[in-house]
Amino acid sequence: MSFDLASRLAERRAAHLYRQRPSLEGPQAPRVRVDGRELLAFCSNDYLGLANHPEVIRALQQGAEKWGVGGGASHLVIGHSTPHHELEEALAEFTGRPRALLFSTGYMANLAAVTALVGQGDSVLEDRLNHASLLDAGLLSGARFSRYLHNDAVSLASRLEKATGNALVVTDGVFSMDGDLADLPALCAEARSKDAWVMVDDAHGFGPLGATGGGIVEHFGLGLEDVQVLVGTLGKAFGTAGAFVAGSEELIETLIQFARPYIYTTSQPPAVACATLKSLELLRAEGWRREHLNRLITRFRAGAAEIGLRLMDSPTPIQPILVGDSERALKLSALLKDRGLLVGAIRPPTVPAGSARLRVTFSASHTEAQLEQLLEALAECWPQVNGDA
Ligand SMILES: *Cc1c(COP(=O)(O)O)cnc(C)c1O
Repeated sequence: MSFDLASRLAERRAAHLYRQRPSLEGPQAPRVRVDGRELLAFCSNDYLGLANHPEVIRALQQGAEKWGVGGGASHLVIGHSTPHHELEEALAEFTGRPRALLFSTGYMANLAAVTALVGQGDSVLEDRLNHASLLDAGLLSGARFSRYLHNDAVSLASRLEKATGNALVVTDGVFSMDGDLADLPALCAEARSKDAWVMVDDAHGFGPLGATGGGIVEHFGLGLEDVQVLVGTLGKAFGTAGAFVAGSEELIETLIQFARPYIYTTSQPPAVACATLKSLELLRAEGWRREHLNRLITRFRAGAAEIGLRLMDSPTPIQPILVGDSERALKLSALLKDRGLLVGAIRPPTVPAGSARLRVTFSASHTEAQLEQLLEALAECWPQVNGDA
């Protein structure tokens, strides 16, 4: 026996599913240099344009001067420093929850929260389009795992009927590959009627959504009694790195005591927490970033409709163009690249089979002229890949 990696890789290539990493040769911005070429990018998750903001950079520099670079140890040993603690308090206040707990990545926050809350004999119910980290968390927990139809409270209800033990309903807030919003009022009502808890991962909602960027729970006005476990990530609209879980005092203490992905890892660099404190301030205060984003989204949807593109039901900066076939999605992405535009093709298994798409994302740092450039290029390129559809 041996590991036949070469054939696995060859199969993936033949299926047009081979992945490559574009090499970014500068900071995140609409205009980037990638693999030696200047391109206009519509694919980052830096929705508010904070990843390269001068004040956030300065906060990171000053943080490093004061606190050094490495976190040094896990939070429970000697890695929990003042900036981490201040950021947790600021995030609790921001989310209107009693407490928040900081993590080094969103993937880990999700593994931590799900595995600390449910195990053998319990049930975890997930939207079938949830982010991979949530699905992995559900499988790792050992709880009875079931997936309900996308955003469907009726499908959730039928699965809740069969749930055993403690039941945790888990959903993305804004679905990362579709851009649509979870129907939280209906899902939370269903969960509440069955004494289940709801966990929302709002990685893409914090920043763009809500009057002060408070994400989907602010958008729908949902409190702790609706969403007991609220997850946000800091590498997207916050423009920094890490993640948090917000909830009750008892929830946070439970995670500190029992969540292995929290306990057995080094804390994030304290200077990153200093940077996030600054980006949180900008995210809340600078409403013009959300307003500008919303103008770009509205204009894009109108322009795309004129071209005849298939968009999804998304009010967010994630505006996928549905292509279907992986090969055609790659071709559209390549044609745009020839015209100086960078938009990533997203293929299975990241999205369901037959639903390959170009995942267009907008940032508050895109100009209206840049958006028109994208629409013009799409109007030229789309007919070349849209032979039969
Ligand atoms: C990006 C993302 C994560 C992972 O967060 P990281 O901090 O990048 O590990 C989790 N959930 C969703 C919905 C995401 O989009």
